[in-house]
Amino acid sequence: MENSSRIDKRSSAAFQEAKGLIPGGVNSPVRAFKSVGLTPLFMESGSGSRVTDIDGNTFIDYVGSWGPLIVGHAHPTVLEAIHATAVKGTSFGAPTLLETEMAKLVIERVPSIDMVRMVNSGTEATMSALRLARGFTKRDKIVKFEGSYHGHADALLIKAGSGVATLGLPDSPGVPSSVASNTITVPYNDLASVKLVFEKFGEEIAALIVEPIAGNMGVVPPAAGFLQGLRDITKQYGSLLIFDEVMTGFRVHKNCAQGLYGVTPDLTCLGKVIGGGLPVGAYGGRLDIMEQMAPAGPIYQAGTLSGNPLAMAAGYATLSLLGQPNVYEELERKSAKLEAGFAANAAEFGIASTINRVGSMVCPFFTETKVTNYDTAKTSDLNRFNAYFGHLLDLGVSVAPSQFEGMFVSTVHSDEDIELTIGAHREALKRL
Ligand code: PLP
Repeated sequence: MENSSRIDKRSSAAFQEAKGLIPGGVNSPVRAFKSVGLTPLFMESGSGSRVTDIDGNTFIDYVGSWGPLIVGHAHPTVLEAIHATAVKGTSFGAPTLLETEMAKLVIERVPSIDMVRMVNSGTEATMSALRLARGFTKRDKIVKFEGSYHGHADALLIKAGSGVATLGLPDSPGVPSSVASNTITVPYNDLASVKLVFEKFGEEIAALIVEPIAGNMGVVPPAAGFLQGLRDITKQYGSLLIFDEVMTGFRVHKNCAQGLYGVTPDLTCLGKVIGGGLPVGAYGGRLDIMEQMAPAGPIYQAGTLSGNPLAMAAGYATLSLLGQPNVYEELERKSAKLEAGFAANAAEFGIASTINRVGSMVCPFFTETKVTNYDTAKTSDLNRFNAYFGHLLDLGVSVAPSQFEGMFVSTVHSDEDIELTIGAHREALKRL
């Protein structure tokens, strides 16, 4: 799998040009490879488990477009669905039958969702769910967790994970302090802190929003009883519990993380997988709450391209593929094999390592500390991660250029891919 002869000539030139035209040369910050100190690779194509850049280098890909591509790149079923839909027109700004079919499928599979509204991104989904929670409860404050990322809406860009954590940025300039003052942050997996916050502000809290498995501070599973504890506390104070399943939705279980852990939120946000690689988001939940959205109710949210036919077609095709037998069992088997291989490699070279994994979300940290929240995630040796990232790339494996992101295993990663990846990981650790 040796690929250190990689040539990045075209990517380097393309990045130089893009930097003069697009802030930082990219349309989403972490893509710039800034924290790892490398030049980003411009992608040309993807097929199955592989991506190829514009210099012709091919990689086994665990970025999967940051989560959506659970059935791999350019899956024939997804492509066929997009094509069959596109030839009939790309957007109408009028209802289509595909939207109803998609809603039916989502409602059937997600325990908490009685009614669902499609939007265009995960950011829109969480932003809209918050407005709905505030409108429904007639309260202003919200609670989120440190190191969680829920998109870039003002109220949620406080102590955020993902790119904000990767770049080590403070809370973003441009978020009004009046907005920030209504967002309360607490450490992930810390029920005692949540209780204290509710004891103090409970009557003012519209909602608590949580990634049921944190995926933007690296991967951090919920401690036993944590999600149920959040359910109980929010219920006690008449606040809504929002599961942000933009990353975990249909990734970890056929019924999402809420199906895996058996905890039912009031509202759920979705994105990534449900768009099959096209721009999408969704929020849904209890009927009495969802019926408050316009035009059924008074709370407003809209979108020129919402429920876009191509996104619905790609998402529906992806969810249909995920409905086949043994899909999640196979994802679990391959991901467990990857985890075990990584653990054996770290042990062989005596490298401090903690590997967190839930299903096909896998995250090797360079620390011996148990990673249960953002503070412990930050004990990972980031210099080591950065070097490891570069070596992996040289060895033909593409992972997210950040310690604070997971690897996504897809249904089309073969056993051979997994073995090659374990081999590349071993070599990368050896080179550290
Ligand atoms: N929520 C979670 C948990 C996410 O991981 C992300 C994106 O990574 C978002 C929300 C925002 O989604 P989008 O990037 O589609 O706006």
